Amino acid sequence: MRAIAVFPEKRDVRIIDLPAPEARGEHDVTVRVREVGICGTDREICGFHYGTPPSGQPRLVLGHEALGEVVRVGAGVRTLQPGDLVAFTVRRPCEDKSCIACRRGRQDFCTTGAFRERGIKEADGFMTELVVEHEHFLVRVPRALADVGVLVEPLTIAAKAAMDLEAILKRYPWEPTGMRALVLGAGPIGLLGAMMLVARNDVETFVYSLEPADSDRAKLVRSFGAEYVSARDVELGDLAPRVGGAFDIIFEAVGHARVAFSALGALAPNGVVVLSGVPGGDKPIEINLDGIMRNIVLNNQVLFGTVNASRAAFEASVRQLEQFMTLFPDAVRSLITEKAKLEDAPAMLRRAGGIKQVVALAA
Ligand SMILES: [Zn+2]
Ligand SMILES: [Zn+2]
Repeated sequence: MRAIAVFPEKRDVRIIDLPAPEARGEHDVTVRVREVGICGTDREICGFHYGTPPSGQPRLVLGHEALGEVVRVGAGVRTLQPGDLVAFTVRRPCEDKSCIACRRGRQDFCTTGAFRERGIKEADGFMTELVVEHEHFLVRVPRALADVGVLVEPLTIAAKAAMDLEAILKRYPWEPTGMRALVLGAGPIGLLGAMMLVARNDVETFVYSLEPADSDRAKLVRSFGAEYVSARDVELGDLAPRVGGAFDIIFEAVGHARVAFSALGALAPNGVVVLSGVPGGDKPIEINLDGIMRNIVLNNQVLFGTVNASRAAFEASVRQLEQFMTLFPDAVRSLITEKAKLEDAPAMLRRAGGIKQVVALAA
């Protein structure tokens, strides 16, 4: 069975041969992997900046954004059957008894940091032909989503953010209406976040990114009902007055602190900022923190970060993707810009390009 593996010590990324995994437990499900998406995390792992092999192993099997098809189920499996399409959750709980998050099955909120993540941290990923997984870590995906189901995992970032956002919006003693949202960045997470906001009724959504206003990326944004503003045309500091006022929600998906914190000037009173990008930098940045903090306090503003996703967020992501496919199917399909076979994947991993690159293992 072939797999794509990263050897951090040897600084090598290549196809290896693995024995097929064996299902042992009665809740084990054997899944044939169909497609695996590639994101910035995979690229960082392939650049040897990130990622940890399973203990005692020289290599990590890559891939965490996977869609597969169930081929066999254990005797105790009740939620899935052969032929079902499934998305894989990524994070596995730590073993620390004091970690209330993991003990409650919410390892996305793990407090010890001793969790494992398939394809990222101390657990093999899904860029391989067959995977055995406990049914609890698999989420059924309807057949109608077969061609876009690989987007379920990246969409969980927005789905979890939406769940947390709704909880925060409940602090108002009124139903918020006519909200305005700003998405920073038009990569896959930014675009999926923008779709999430557009699909939530009554949110006027703007995407702000580097690509020119007449680029394909900008046209894609407009095609699903958001507005696009290019950073080449409007400075971030001028954005709110140029587009009719401040934003109630800012969804950050660029991973640059300067951009994220500069955008706070465009945040409306009682506004909420979701931070989802992970900055790679470690140099000090000069910024008016007193002014920022003053505004946050005097305007009841909230900033929160979000990482990984629970099973509930995966289920919400599946429902959200179904909704997107009703509202703007062509825009969703056009997020997948390149598909390569397993043997061509190492080359594809070396070049960034398009929106979402996908490794296709089986149809
Ligand atoms: Zn990813
Ligand atoms: Zn934990």
